[in-house]
Amino acid sequence: MSTGTVTAGRGEPAAEQEPAAEDAGRPAGVALPPRADRAERGERARAAVERLRAAEVDAVAVTWVDNAGIARVKAVPLTGLVHAAQWGVGTAPCFDVFLADDTIVSSPLTGGPTGDLRLYPDVDRLVPLAAQPGWAWAPGDRYTQGGAPHPGCQRLFARRAVAAAAERGLGLKAGIEIEWVVALAGPPEEEPRYPTAGAAYGLQRLTDLSGYLRELLRALAEQGLTVLQIHPEYAAGQFEVSVAPEGPVEAADTSVLVRQTVRAVSARHGLRVSFAPVVEAGSVGNGGHLHLSLWRDGRNLARGGSGPHGLTAEGEGFLAGVLGALPELLVLGSSSPAGYLRLVPSHWAGAYRCWGLENREAALRLVTGSTGERSTAANAEIKCFDATANPYLALGGVLAAGLAGLDRGLTLPPEVTGDPAQAEPGTVPRLPAGPAEALAAYRRSAVLREALGEPLYEAVLAVRLAESEQYAGATPEQLVAATRWRY
Ligand code: GLU
Ligand code: MG
Repeated sequence: MSTGTVTAGRGEPAAEQEPAAEDAGRPAGVALPPRADRAERGERARAAVERLRAAEVDAVAVTWVDNAGIARVKAVPLTGLVHAAQWGVGTAPCFDVFLADDTIVSSPLTGGPTGDLRLYPDVDRLVPLAAQPGWAWAPGDRYTQGGAPHPGCQRLFARRAVAAAAERGLGLKAGIEIEWVVALAGPPEEEPRYPTAGAAYGLQRLTDLSGYLRELLRALAEQGLTVLQIHPEYAAGQFEVSVAPEGPVEAADTSVLVRQTVRAVSARHGLRVSFAPVVEAGSVGNGGHLHLSLWRDGRNLARGGSGPHGLTAEGEGFLAGVLGALPELLVLGSSSPAGYLRLVPSHWAGAYRCWGLENREAALRLVTGSTGERSTAANAEIKCFDATANPYLALGGVLAAGLAGLDRGLTLPPEVTGDPAQAEPGTVPRLPAGPAEALAAYRRSAVLREALGEPLYEAVLAVRLAESEQYAGATPEQLVAATRWRY
């Protein structure tokens, strides 16, 4: 994967002149740098403004997700959208080293108050927000003022990973399940109080909140999303929604949009939400399971092969690469130290580094679907990830690890059937039990270092180290209280 041409770092002066499209240091597959298609972007934005004005939109929220997993935003009035699409919106580079509690740290290549980046709304993903009348939303890509891709841009990283798969003739479909806990609005220091006392997966829970859930379904549909399922989950006040699979970058965008919609609909009902890994210490938490299938020439590589459960050699190599890299991938798939309170055995969180067909305790669950729909439905689910992940980093990292496994022709270890907690002790490895162990694996990962590129790799490391230090002496209750309403 080519990242070598991206050069911006701390202290790099802004380019005096716009680089020509050809020499903007564009890694293969990354969207054209802003100058190349500025006129066209302007045209598309002008057309969008017409549509949005008809929908009575006054302002557009442009988001990116930082390395701590927090969705951050800059907004422009509708009258400023064309300019934003052509020239971007100013954002500080130090956002790359923000922690979830808004502390700002630094990394060897990122930090300090100087410099500016341009955040470009992706006009193709612009959508009016059904539960926030007058507002529209678009995810953004970050470039330097000189027009080169910002090496710390997580969304461009995910795009590069998709391009690396495409170079091999491979396509991907992905989806991120969203679990959340809904509580009555109150001061942040208050323990959660729930709007329903219904049982896990209980019909009563759905009945108590049927108006809320209906409004949520409507809002998601109005925003162009196809909901597959919505249901009460296990923990108190917990629900889950899943949407149709799509391309990896689009799926990451969608996970931001779905969470934003859940939050907005909840606010309209006097409710607040938590996507944090654990909302009450000791209870089952919120996952952010990642579903992925790999395709070549319209064929699902999880089917019709001679590997386990019909995996093709390429499908198996990809999954073996992911499975082997799960300890370091956790650094991207679960940002907060609180994630390790969730990632424990017997919580369906996938705390073991193993794989198994329909095994909910395996970090990598193979899903084949029903007889008859397997060729389209078969996929792999990474269960150990949670919603503190930056979804672009999580998807990009998984793709990089998977492609490395595919290139090396790796095979899967034996399948684990049943609960790994009941297996002979030591036979099924646990995933890291805390951030230190995951970070040690991340530091050893040449694959992630190369795929992310040095500035992004280092910024993630700086943020994780700082957050793990921040909570080093915290009890589970303190950690949960500090993170509960941040995600
Ligand atoms: N809430 C569980 C988790 O923390 C997952 C439950 C399920 O299997 O959907 O990941
Ligand atoms: Mg679930």
